[in-house]
Order: sequence, then C-alpha cells, then structure tokens
Amino acid sequence: MTAPDLAQRSRAAVWHPCTQMARLADVPPLPIARGEGPWLIDTDGRRYFDANSSWWVNLFGHSDRALHDAIKQQLDTLPHVMLAGCTHEPAVRLAERLSARTGGALGHVFFGSDGASAVEIALKQSFHSWKNLGQPEKREFVCLRHSYHGETLGALSVTDVQVFRDAYDPLLMRAHIVASPDGRLANEAEALAAMRRLLAERHAQIACVIVEPLIQGAAGMVMYSPEYLRGLREMTREFGVHLIADEIAVGCGRTGTFFAWEQVGTDWPDFILLSKGITGGTMALSLVLTTDDVFNAFWSDDVTRGFLHSHSYTGNPLACAAANAVLDRFDAGLLDNARAQASALARAFAPLAPRVAHLRQRGMILAFDVPNAPARFAETFHLKARAHELLIRPIGNTVYLMPPYLIDDATAAFLAQAVTATLNDVLA
Ligand SMILES: *Cc1c(COP(=O)(O)O)cnc(C)c1O
Repeated sequence: MTAPDLAQRSRAAVWHPCTQMARLADVPPLPIARGEGPWLIDTDGRRYFDANSSWWVNLFGHSDRALHDAIKQQLDTLPHVMLAGCTHEPAVRLAERLSARTGGALGHVFFGSDGASAVEIALKQSFHSWKNLGQPEKREFVCLRHSYHGETLGALSVTDVQVFRDAYDPLLMRAHIVASPDGRLANEAEALAAMRRLLAERHAQIACVIVEPLIQGAAGMVMYSPEYLRGLREMTREFGVHLIADEIAVGCGRTGTFFAWEQVGTDWPDFILLSKGITGGTMALSLVLTTDDVFNAFWSDDVTRGFLHSHSYTGNPLACAAANAVLDRFDAGLLDNARAQASALARAFAPLAPRVAHLRQRGMILAFDVPNAPARFAETFHLKARAHELLIRPIGNTVYLMPPYLIDDATAAFLAQAVTATLNDVLA
C-alpha cells in the first residue's frame, strides 16, 4: 500500500478529527506505518519527529518497551472488567499512587475514558455535591477567556475557543467567561480582580471555577504565573466555590513538576483532572481526583445521592497498567532528567528569539508567536515542516513544541534547525 493510496482511502472512509475534510486534497494525511522513539515512519519509509507528542500524549516516544510490556502482561491476565461491582489491582494501585502524589489531599479517584469525559464528570460532581449539601442553586460554572476543556457539549460549555464553540453555541450551557491571565500582557492582577467581582456577586449560584493551570494550551500555549493560581485558590475558598484544575495537558510532568499545581503550593484544588500523558500515548484513560469533602457529600443510604455515572471502559485494566508503568518512570526520577532536557531545548531555541515574538517555555513546553503571519499559516507550516522531517501543528500563529522526554543536545539542535528552516520556507 503506497502513501497516496492510503491517504486517498482515508479521505473516503475516515472522517478526520478537527479537520475540514475538503482541505485534505491539499493537505493529505500522513500515512504512518510505525513509530520508533520520537520518530514516526510513513508507509514510504520517510521519518518525522513527533514534536507535539501526537496531541500531547506520547511522553516517552513511540514503541516504549516498558509500557508495551506492562500492557502485554495485563492483556494476558485481565484485559477488562467492569468497575461497578468489581475492582482490580491496577485501578486500586493507580488511584492510591496518584492520591499519594497529592499528599492524600485528593484521595478519591473516578475513572473516565478521555479528557472531555473527565471534565463532564468533575462538573457534574461539583454541582451534585452542592445539591446534596442543600445548595441546589449552586449550578453555574465559570471558565477563563480562551479556555479549552474539550468538545462534548458540557466540556464545550466551559470552552472559549471560537473555532470549536461558535457552531454549537445555541446548544451550550451558559457558563461565565472571565478575563484570563496572560504572561505576555502581565495582566494577572487584573484577571484576578475580574474573577473577584464575579465571585462576590454570584458565589451563591456558582458551583465551580475550572482552569488550565499555568498554561492555556489550545489558546496557543498562553503561560501565566503560579501567583494567579494562588490568588484564585484563596478567592474560591473565601467564596465557597470549587476549583477544578484541568491538568489534562499540563499534568504528567510537562511543566517541570508531576502536577503543575505543585508549583502553586500546598493548598490543593478541589479537583484535578488527568488524561493525555497518563498512559504515555498507549491507551485512552482519564482520571478525576477529588477531596474527602466532595466525596463525603455523596455518602448516603439513598442511592440517588450517589454519583450514578459510568462509561463502559471505566478503569480499564490495560489503561491502568499502562498508567502505572508511566508512574514507575516518574518514581524513578524522570523529572530530574527532564529538567536537563528542558534546558537543552531552551539553549537550542534561544537564537530564534530575535526573529519571533514571545519565545516562552515552561518545562517541556516551548512556544513562540509569529508576527504578521501569512494566511493559513498553521496549515502551511505543518505541510512545509514535513520536508524537514518534522511533524508539528501550530495553533493560529503560535508555533509550539511539546516533545517526548527524549531530548538531548543533538535532538534539540535538530528541532531548532527544522523549525527555523520551516519558518524560512513559510515566510519566504
Ligand atoms: C485535550 C484536552 C481536553 C480534552 O481531552 P480529550 O481527550 O481530547 O477529550 C480537556 N482539557 C484540556 C486542557 C486539554 O488539553
């Protein structure tokens, strides 16, 4: 099967995500045959460095032996069992280990299948816990300007990215959208003041505030300070509103600590959401971690006060085994090594700073903006990068990298050279 054949069949039979299918004639999907470390290899044997970790999931590169072995072993033992009425060791161990990473502050773990379902679960748990506590009027949600929390209807209701949201706007719940912090604008204090005004006025009706800690990913890798989150935590406590930290993108060490929230301090949010990197790009899994307070609000002899929510693959053992193998890597000191990798990236990209705007980095996420970018910049950049052995998908005029934890000076230099060459092509 040659590459053009497969791309052609894909256009006919596969409805690709986040894609205007009519554009696929000009931008044919890359037919990927296999993966090796940071490289993806197409059906013609050409290779591409997976600079965005296949939508931020692939932590250790492709075909990681330890992850594969963990899944294979689980596959031969117990590929699946329902988590209602049954339990299993991989799920229990994973829940215990994640809760231990919060010092027990978030000691109750609910399992979902993907990021959007984790968002739905947390929104429902927040509302329902207030209801069980005799405050059913707390049913409004708050999110930040340019936030992204997924694309099912509930998650989209707390998402403020126009291209995803506008078409479905008439269907969505009316969440409050509040000014967001943006390190490029140094506006954290104003953003907090706007939040305070809303919470002061509506806290009796507000169930929760949901945020992407430290980096608003889909907004274009917008980075902001931990101080904003400290202020937000204090404020949500003051007004009796839950705080949901959506770490689906920024968790699993991406910002330099396992949870981005570790950089904020020891007063944890009421919910932390994980997905994407938690299985290292092998299995679909998401997790909602929450507190004794939220959990206890559901504790009752009355069945309907319980959280009657489920997905067929909830707590799938294969996915949990993969996640446990990911945590083994962090337990073995991966993040010490990742700091050196982040420095290698910083050194390699520093020479680009004068040509671009707001070159910024937190941990293993590096981004910059391209001023006066031509029309269809992201699509053109993605396409031209292929010729430089690079798989990358800018967001608007923001080019970013979120590579697997496989960076050394040589790979960092390769990435900087490939990005610079692509930029030269696109701006030529
Ligand atoms: C990707 C993402 C989601 C949605 O996860 P899916 O698995 O794509 O549904 C939610 N929140 C954030 C911050 C994300 O980056």
